Amino acid sequence: MNCFYHQQVIAVGVCSSCGRGLCSECCTVVGKRLACRESCEGDVECFNKLREFAERAPERAKQQIREGKRVVIAVCIFLLIFGGIPLVLSLINGRDATFWAMAYACIVLLSIGAITWSQKSARQADDTVSRD
Ligand SMILES: [Zn+2]
Ligand SMILES: [Zn+2]
Repeated sequence: MNCFYHQQVIAVGVCSSCGRGLCSECCTVVGKRLACRESCEGDVECFNKLREFAERAPERAKQQIREGKRVVIAVCIFLLIFGGIPLVLSLINGRDATFWAMAYACIVLLSIGAITWSQKSARQADDTVSRD
C-alpha cells in the first residue's frame, strides 16, 4: 500500500481513524495509534480518550462496590453495637429481655446476611474485572 497523500511513497502504516495509508511524513502517533498528521489527529485523540474511559469503567465499578461493602459493614457494626444496648440494659435491670433478645437476633442475622451478600458481590466484581 502506498501513502494516500503521496501515491509514490510506500505507506508505513494506516490511520486508525480514516484507514488511509500513510508514509512516515504524513503519519503521527497519538497515544499508541497512527493518525494522519493534522487531519485525523483530533479524532484519534478523542477515540483514545473514550477508550481509556471505557477501560477504566470496570475498575471504577469495582471501587464503588468496595466502597459499598465498607458502608454495609460499618452499618452492620453500628447496629450490632447499638442494637445490643437495650438488651444489655434489660438484662442488667432484671427486666424481661425476650423482645430485645429477639430483636438483637434479627439484627445479627441481617448483618451476617448483608455482609455475606456484599462480600459476594465484591468477589463477583473482582472476577468480572480479572476475566477481561
Ligand atoms: Zn486519517
Ligand atoms: Zn505521505
